[in-house]
Amino acid sequence: MGEVPQDWKTADVDPLHKSGDGEEAGKLQAKIGDLKELQTLDISINCLITLPERLHLCHSLQYLTVDRNHLWGIPRHLCQLPNLNELSMAGNRLAFLPLDLGRSRELQYVYVDNNIHLKGLPSYLYNKVIGCSGCGSPIHVSEMKLLCFSSGQLSVFLPAEVKSIGAAVDSVLPLQELTMRTLYNALSRFMKDLNFLSSILLPRSLLELLLCPLGHCHRCSQPMFTIVYPKLFPLRETPMAGLHQGRTAVSFVAYCCSTQCLQTFDLLS
Ligand SMILES: [Zn+2]
Repeated sequence: MGEVPQDWKTADVDPLHKSGDGEEAGKLQAKIGDLKELQTLDISINCLITLPERLHLCHSLQYLTVDRNHLWGIPRHLCQLPNLNELSMAGNRLAFLPLDLGRSRELQYVYVDNNIHLKGLPSYLYNKVIGCSGCGSPIHVSEMKLLCFSSGQLSVFLPAEVKSIGAAVDSVLPLQELTMRTLYNALSRFMKDLNFLSSILLPRSLLELLLCPLGHCHRCSQPMFTIVYPKLFPLRETPMAGLHQGRTAVSFVAYCCSTQCLQTFDLLS
């Protein structure tokens, strides 16, 4: 493949079948963020464990296919891709999805079929075209050591970055969450000014979290940084159940910012 041309509009990387040594995938990994014109990317069947770190910089990306890799999660930064219309992640090892997946109006098609550990879909996906057959295996995967939220018989895994789960009785937010929300509100109008942001004396990890929060409240859009208040809606109890005819056991998860939003969120309204 040689040098990756920066005006690429379509990329179909299939090293297992073309070169057999993953060399092309390596080049793409390094260059991917520079591909500002890239609209379609298919990196299916590449044994990938993670996605390229700079993929979210491909602002023209409309169709992303990462089927049949070994992905256990996808970066939350991908939710910031403004033009992404279709995302296919079938046949991976996904156990959770980013909180904001589907928040973008552009994203209309999301396929996560055959990710057996995946039990929760962000509630933003409720009104989208989704494929989720073969998800939500009842097998308990204790070795996965993931944060798990249970409600009655249902349970879902939460993204690794979530630090704590709020319940209806936890009306006071942790101090770090309060601080981050206050900082965000004070600084949000400067968020695009990287020079200004880098002058703020914050650890790099917190600065990155400020620039890309864990997610936004599914009820009121408030950014969330460490804690979420989840609420589960089993797909089989929604009007969408007929479309999926028992081939899936997932729940929609509303991630809320407070006890108040938790109490007032309604998926069907
Ligand atoms: Zn809220």
